[in-house]
Amino acid sequence: MFPPQSDVFKKLIAHCKEYGFVFPSSEIYDGLGAVYDYGQNGVELKNNLKKYWWDSMVLLNENVVGIDAAIFMHPTTWKASGHVDAFNDPLIDNRDSKKRYRADVLIEDLLAKYDEKNQKEIDKAAKRFGDKFDAEMFRQTNPRVLENQAKRDEIHTRFVKALHDNDLAELKAIIEDNEIVCPISGTRNWTDVRQFNLMFSTEMGSTAEGATQVFLRPETAQGIFVNFLNVQKTGRMKIPFGIAQIGKAFRNEIVARQFIFRMREFEQMEMQFFVRPGEELKWYEYWKEVRLRWHQALGLGDHKYRFHDHEKLAHYANAATDIEFEMPFGFKEVEGIHSRTDFDLTSHERYSGKSLKYFDPELNQSYVPYVVETSIGLDRTFLSILAGTYAEEDLGNGDSRVVLKLPPALAPVKVAILPLVKKDDLPEKAQEIMDMLKFDYKCFYDEKDSIGKRYRRQDAIGTPFCVTIDHQTLTDNTVTIRHRDSMEQERVAIEALSEIIGKSTSIKELLKKI
Ligand code: ATP
Repeated sequence: MFPPQSDVFKKLIAHCKEYGFVFPSSEIYDGLGAVYDYGQNGVELKNNLKKYWWDSMVLLNENVVGIDAAIFMHPTTWKASGHVDAFNDPLIDNRDSKKRYRADVLIEDLLAKYDEKNQKEIDKAAKRFGDKFDAEMFRQTNPRVLENQAKRDEIHTRFVKALHDNDLAELKAIIEDNEIVCPISGTRNWTDVRQFNLMFSTEMGSTAEGATQVFLRPETAQGIFVNFLNVQKTGRMKIPFGIAQIGKAFRNEIVARQFIFRMREFEQMEMQFFVRPGEELKWYEYWKEVRLRWHQALGLGDHKYRFHDHEKLAHYANAATDIEFEMPFGFKEVEGIHSRTDFDLTSHERYSGKSLKYFDPELNQSYVPYVVETSIGLDRTFLSILAGTYAEEDLGNGDSRVVLKLPPALAPVKVAILPLVKKDDLPEKAQEIMDMLKFDYKCFYDEKDSIGKRYRRQDAIGTPFCVTIDHQTLTDNTVTIRHRDSMEQERVAIEALSEIIGKSTSIKELLKKI
């Protein structure tokens, strides 16, 4: 039997640490809340993921170019973007446990519990009735399901309205009326709900009087907006066109949990696509589909992704959806796709006093473009890939293995070079092969322990190929190559290696599937 989800998640976190993917930040000082470091394998996987995203934007689309803006920006940027006044989360404290929660998340968790309850009823009935079972009919007629659904809908309606009206007292009332308890203390001893701004600030300048308060950017998007005309003019870009960027963002998250899912320092990969006013919803639909295909091309299973349209649109959006992935703790957002209208550019025009209009030669008119944004969290995508590929396999005869079935193009190490024994000139021959392959592929040389143990170590970090050099190699220049997923081995000529490895580990193979 497969272990329960939370066990899988715990094992995954331990695995990440044990195999050099992710470490808690400054661990020797007991770590820092929701800040993590990527280790020797993590950074390779992360870099490959960045390349996959970057190439899918700037190689595959001739009208998308990249930039790399600074983390610090003029403080007025954040007034204009609305972050100073409106980048808040509603927080609530439990007086007994002294734990702090996001009020909206407590209510969302409750809604998810009702959904789970109903799903359980449906699954139970499906088992009982077999092939004849009609889930939709059951949903519409079963009294228990109907009662749950009615309760859920009532809470949901109140919740959406409270968010929309920014009604903090009503959020608290929903928590109290539904008897939501603190998971730690188990009590309902809640404080009032308050707003909390998520931006980190620091000071720039050498003297106390001369210092200016600056913010660590909470999103990369604004660096793109303020550079919109620079790029458009110097790149002679014609609308529609996009600007892509990968970079760090910082948020003082109230509740930082679930490992690298919610961090205080994280990385975003964003693309802002500038379009004619009135055409934004067409492009919104277009990028929704393209972005879903990008995720699906990773091969983790199409059923693990779904769209989740926003109930409360952000102050800047006229349409918004999330791409969610089925994490070990449920379906969660990994990417947001937003139709941001002309909110940002118009606001920057107003605050800076500079025109950010584009002259459209085909229409012979100037306008502020509308923007469709795709914003994906690099760390969350990293987590989704690890969660989607981590497997514990029973190999029979009491043997088992842990394997990361990573898409080969993303694997930190592409090929392990393993001399069968540490003598008889095998290490030298292995080194020769390594020297031949290392210019194209990240290789790992290992001569310690039995070959079986070495295979297991490579399985655990997701290396798609192991090449073993034995005595026969010295006579006929052939080696065995072992495939990670099937564990099959074949004897091949050394000259054939590069082509075999290249075929399945190239990012091009992923890009072609989008
Ligand atoms: P959430 O609702 O989970 O807080 P969000 O809707 O505020 O996320 P966006 O502002 O749309 O997130 O940011 C775009 C992407 O950046 C998200 O889809 C997510 O992948 C990533 N992201 C946002 N906040 C964090 C965080 N604290 N840690 C890691 N990744 C994050």
